[in-house]
Amino acid sequence: MEIAATVAQAKAVVRSWRSHGLKLGLVPTMGYLHEGHLSLIDRAAAECDRVAVSVFVNPTQFGPNEDFERYPRDFAKDSKLCAAKGVGLIFCPEPAEMYPPGHATYVEAPALATGLCGRSRPGHFRGVLTVVLKLFMILEPDMAYFGLKDAQQFFCLKKMVEDLNLNLTVVPCPTVRESSGLALSSRNAYLSAEEKNAALCLTKALNKAESLLKAGERRGEVILGAIKETIAQEPLASLEYAEAVETGQLTEVKEFVTETLVAIAVHIGQTRLIDNFIWRG
Ligand code: AMP
Repeated sequence: MEIAATVAQAKAVVRSWRSHGLKLGLVPTMGYLHEGHLSLIDRAAAECDRVAVSVFVNPTQFGPNEDFERYPRDFAKDSKLCAAKGVGLIFCPEPAEMYPPGHATYVEAPALATGLCGRSRPGHFRGVLTVVLKLFMILEPDMAYFGLKDAQQFFCLKKMVEDLNLNLTVVPCPTVRESSGLALSSRNAYLSAEEKNAALCLTKALNKAESLLKAGERRGEVILGAIKETIAQEPLASLEYAEAVETGQLTEVKEFVTETLVAIAVHIGQTRLIDNFIWRG
């Protein structure tokens, strides 16, 4: 397994693969890898000849009062996990390598970045799209794998790939969960045992919404009402948003008719967690 900390090293590795006609799959991550990330790596390995994983805590997607500094990092463990999965390249630049002094060009995020998480995290998707476009230009993957746990992120990236005529396919991958139902996230490391237990209210709320839909309920108000009520019952939780949006432009849905993303963001103590499901009717 190659480990590249500079853009030049990473380009050299993928150039040699490309010269052999190998198909490259990219899994962009911020590291502190868990089974969710590993499921993306497995999918990439199944569909591509070589897998590259980027490990980069991207400063431009964090707001000034967010957790960039304290975001968990464990490169030794990440590289062991990647090696065990047969990953061909880890690209792990320092922020100054990706954003050298004078770096001034950013991707302007589309309208679908403004709702949901975009409301409380202005600039977040601009940072995500910028770093992912840079990774695409550096590594030139044929395929790139993203988790639907970050559904809005996936839809924004898909739009960028379409709008900018990028030469690759982005692949959405299902959310990996603990047996309790809690979606795996590097940020779960922030939770105390008590908070982790409280975090189960996200799963409970989404399950409630799904069972209402299964029973035939289609009114957004009722479905989101059930989510809000479930979160309100957990003393350690405070709801940031619960929304139902169609999966094209991510505009609000009053009545469930077409494919709909039901997404929530909940603060458990100091930790912000997100989760969602997609209803396909
Ligand atoms: P992150 O390191 O949190 O930026 O995540 C890197 C990639 O892994 C993103 O495409 C995420 O959507 C994906 N991911 C994170 N958590 C999960 C999960 N529980 N299941 C599936 N994919 C995930």
